[in-house]
Amino acid sequence: MVKKHTKPIVIKLKELKKRYGIGNAEHYALDGVDLIIEKGEFIAVMGPSGCGKTTLLNILGLLDRPTDGDYLLDGKAVEELSSAHHARIRSEQIGFVFQNFNLVPRISVIENVALPLTYKGMRKMKRLKEASRVLKNFHLQEREYYMPAQLSGGQNQRVAIARALVNNPSIILADEPTGNLDSRASHIVMEELSDLHRRGNTIIMVTHNPKLTTYASRVIHMLDGKIASDTKIPVKDESKTEKIPLGHGRKGKE
Ligand code: ADP
Ligand code: MG
Repeated sequence: MVKKHTKPIVIKLKELKKRYGIGNAEHYALDGVDLIIEKGEFIAVMGPSGCGKTTLLNILGLLDRPTDGDYLLDGKAVEELSSAHHARIRSEQIGFVFQNFNLVPRISVIENVALPLTYKGMRKMKRLKEASRVLKNFHLQEREYYMPAQLSGGQNQRVAIARALVNNPSIILADEPTGNLDSRASHIVMEELSDLHRRGNTIIMVTHNPKLTTYASRVIHMLDGKIASDTKIPVKDESKTEKIPLGHGRKGKE
């Protein structure tokens, strides 16, 4: 059966495989994943430890390459693009959020958020101005010159999300973003991700917490490197869903 897609397809995986080890130690972390992701979906990926969630996210984010199968990003076969092109996609189109925040401890919050702009060759003043604008959206402007160690876990994760967003990516990949947070901080972080979803961004988030799937528009369960179930959650009220492109929409709100 041919399924109709009303929105542009951003990600298409066909029979995707990732093998680790050789001979007796051979093991498929991903063992034939077929997946179509439309623009603006908020996908929660669940499944037991070791089932391949991180491997999948790393391949989607071009941090790792599949052993077999196809990955089309915006209709282009990722495999055929040069590593320089991959790097450009990573820095311009994809924002990463990790469980342990991955902030650089020796530099201030604002410098952390400005870091991805360095690779674009943007001047320092401009970088800090951009970082400050994003932090303001996260109500962290008073913390700009704090060091990461001076903030709570929840605040650090919001800084990490701000950093993931500074380049205005269209896809956010989050690997257990609330894994190290208490329930209150988790919900604040989820509200931020939810807000990005409402603005039309595509979000793929790995989580262990079934409660957090309420924020998603689709829940995927993985098992042994395969997709075991894939459920779309009906939109509550489509008319209230505003879709503003990230950076400029945000600017306009100030
Ligand atoms: P999850 O994130 O769902 O816990 P992972 O994607 O991290 O699972 O891992 C899936 C499987 O692949 C596991 O069996 C893991 O041990 C294996 N694996 C992951 N990364 C590597 C690696 N770099 N080398 C060898 N095996 C790996
Ligand atoms: Mg993992």
